[in-house]
Amino acid sequence: MKVRITSFALALVLILTSTTGCSLSKKNNNGNIKESISVSDTKNDTELSLQDRMIAFIELIQNSDVDIDLTNFFEKAKTLQIVYEKTGDQYYNSYYDMDQNVIFINIDSPGAFEHELLHVIFNNGLDLGSVFIEEGITELLSSELNNTPNTYRYNVGVVKILATILGRDKVMECINKKDLSILTEGLASIKPAVKDAEEVMQYLDFEHKLNQQMHQAFFKEGNLDKFKETEEYVTLKNVRNDLTTRLKIYTKNYFINKVREEGINPEEVLIEMLSLLDVFEIELFDPDVEIERANDFFLRDEVSYLMNTYGIDEETYNRCYELSKSRTYLVGSNGTSFDKSK
Ligand SMILES: [Zn+2]
Repeated sequence: MKVRITSFALALVLILTSTTGCSLSKKNNNGNIKESISVSDTKNDTELSLQDRMIAFIELIQNSDVDIDLTNFFEKAKTLQIVYEKTGDQYYNSYYDMDQNVIFINIDSPGAFEHELLHVIFNNGLDLGSVFIEEGITELLSSELNNTPNTYRYNVGVVKILATILGRDKVMECINKKDLSILTEGLASIKPAVKDAEEVMQYLDFEHKLNQQMHQAFFKEGNLDKFKETEEYVTLKNVRNDLTTRLKIYTKNYFINKVREEGINPEEVLIEMLSLLDVFEIELFDPDVEIERANDFFLRDEVSYLMNTYGIDEETYNRCYELSKSRTYLVGSNGTSFDKSK
């Protein structure tokens, strides 16, 4: 298998160009996964190591326990091209052009390479119908497999919640098959209201569009002062408030049922709860989007129920709390087994 990857990787064409930043954004408006955020690279890789990085990343996927369908990738890799551009702007987008099968990488932020490779892997010609979910899953996988810093923080936070309350298998099935209804129906089964679940999916994508507008404004203006006076900003805050409320209801209902199930591992469930408390308290908040924090101890009753029913002592609680900080959601590789049943 490794030989196969190498031969495909060698088919990669690297093109080094030097262009100005604005021309690219104009020639790629449709059908491409364009990033509004890219991370600056901390490893200082050169363009010559991209083939090695591709091979290493595919091996990481193959050696992990995460279910990623690579069939399509091996076909795409035969003709995949990478255009490496020097734009002088570390915030400039890297992106994957699906139609041309080309990854455009900004030389000033090549850290997005693995994220773009995942877009290649998941590009099977079908449309998921949610850029929000596509970016969230892609970035969470990229960060868990490759230990890269998170971008799309809000999207990633939401995918962490979905991966916990629906199970990572459903999330991976959704992206592998490009079938959003797997998540919508999963949510509706927790709180049987298909309409609400469909609205959540629509609002997530609406949030993504507004969030992109905010990032574009930041790239253009260098600050958010003007954007914060727009209706789009007010709408973005309202949409996030609404989504947080709805996601909390699904999450609470999930745990109300979960803690009463027979044969659960109470420590695993506690770790799930504590990790999601952090997601709701920290990752869904953004200093640039000032939404009000709920002044409550979300999941208090469920945490108490679990601790009282199973006699969890403070020491165990503290250990679970520490483990919750390093919990992974899609890739089960951090030495704990609690996620592997999903
Ligand atoms: Zn992306």
